[in-house]
Amino acid sequence: MKNRKDKIAEAKRVSGADSCVECGRCVAACPMAEMYANFSIEMSPRGIIKKTLIGDPVVEDKNIWYCTECNAGTDTCPQKVSCRDLIRKLREAAVDENLLENAKTCKCCGRAFVAIPVEDFVFARLKDEPPNVFGVLDICPPCRREIYLLRNA
Ligand code: SF4
Ligand code: SF4
Repeated sequence: MKNRKDKIAEAKRVSGADSCVECGRCVAACPMAEMYANFSIEMSPRGIIKKTLIGDPVVEDKNIWYCTECNAGTDTCPQKVSCRDLIRKLREAAVDENLLENAKTCKCCGRAFVAIPVEDFVFARLKDEPPNVFGVLDICPPCRREIYLLRNA
């Protein structure tokens, strides 16, 4: 298995993070500013990119778990850096190291499949829905698909 250093190098490579020119456009486009009352530059795409590039501890940083993976920052980025791809890779590295306190695991297969801060936001929006909606959301999309196919076989 790759070590953390290699995984961070891969995260930088797949996202193009090294090309960042620190313009901040991705921060302006990122929906997290409207989603979270505790939004800060630390949580922002620019903040995560900067920490990654200067070698600060980022794999264990809770701030990597607020992103929705929308990739809106990339659409406005002059360098086409993918904040989504960077954060996905950092999360994968965290899961590999069993740093799972901010990741929800599927009740069926046990895989980490959603960031808990993102889920908290979604649940707050769904608070008036019937309780069975929340049960469905405890299972990851691949397992949900499998259960659906078995039931309809
Ligand atoms: S992918 Fe994440 S960091 Fe990038 S704009 Fe979307 S929520 Fe923000
Ligand atoms: S928009 Fe692109 S270049 Fe500008 S800060 Fe964000 S990642 Fe860096």
